Amino acid sequence: MSSPQPSDLPCAAGTPFVQVQDACKTYGTGEKAVQALSHVDLQVPRGRFVSVIGPSGCGKSTLLRTVAGLEQPDGGSVRICGRTAAEAGAAKMIGFVPQVPALLPWLDVLGNVRVLEKVNRGGGARRHGGAGQGLASDPVALLTRLGLGDVLHRRPGQLSGGMQQRTAIARAFALEPQVLLMDEPFSALDEFTRESAQLQLLDVWQELRTTVVFVTHSIAEAVLLSDSVVVMAARPGRIAGVVDVDLPRPRHHGLLDSADMHEHEHRIRQVLETAWNPVEDVA
Ligand code: ADP
Ligand code: MG
Repeated sequence: MSSPQPSDLPCAAGTPFVQVQDACKTYGTGEKAVQALSHVDLQVPRGRFVSVIGPSGCGKSTLLRTVAGLEQPDGGSVRICGRTAAEAGAAKMIGFVPQVPALLPWLDVLGNVRVLEKVNRGGGARRHGGAGQGLASDPVALLTRLGLGDVLHRRPGQLSGGMQQRTAIARAFALEPQVLLMDEPFSALDEFTRESAQLQLLDVWQELRTTVVFVTHSIAEAVLLSDSVVVMAARPGRIAGVVDVDLPRPRHHGLLDSADMHEHEHRIRQVLETAWNPVEDVA
């Protein structure tokens, strides 16, 4: 009997594609124990772009690594389309873009995108017959859309940080994951490079509609990119609130100065501030 394909899995309409329930994770023991995740619930519907934002050390990477199956929670569960994180990982359903791109230095940009495609492709858009399937299976087109058409034959050592990161993003999309997890991929980029990388990412995502969980510590970046923003707070790492972003797509940088944008940023700041300064219970 052949194993079930991701598209056969129990993902009824309306059920979350990525579901984290009551996840807890503590590093260390005794006085040195750090509660990185405390009863975290996260739901991401299929095809959504969700950002996770919060101050440094609040557990964003731990949450992302837990969804990826790279960390085991002490309690709670992770399901991706009904599968455990380990099962989803084995079925090549999960793509991961780390903060520092891990490119192979001896291969050029195109080679880095192609190197894993035969062995590791997950079967996301293609198996689902998604509209953007051609783009994911055409590395040159993908790289061109990400602004790398002129550097296909450069090696990582000849690229700027922004180009390296976009190569890593192209490689992740080319593997056609069902879920793409990105951990602050643009945090090391200067503001100008970052802005164009954000728009290029959105351009590709708009076509492929991969389910994305994107970690950032930039409020503006979270609003610009996302359908909803999950706000985390620290000590213990927990979800302080979720702010839905009902701005029209396609997004553009003109939005950054708009009243709508500021309104969303304000709401996120309020959630962050409330989490940092909880109202004291005065009896
Ligand atoms: P963020 O990504 O939001 O900056 P992390 O998930 O990396 O936060 O870390 C959350 C907390 O857990 C931090 O206090 C961090 O120091 C701690 N932590 C993360 N990974 C480990 C680890 N492998 N061992 C011990 N402590 C860790
Ligand atoms: Mg982190």
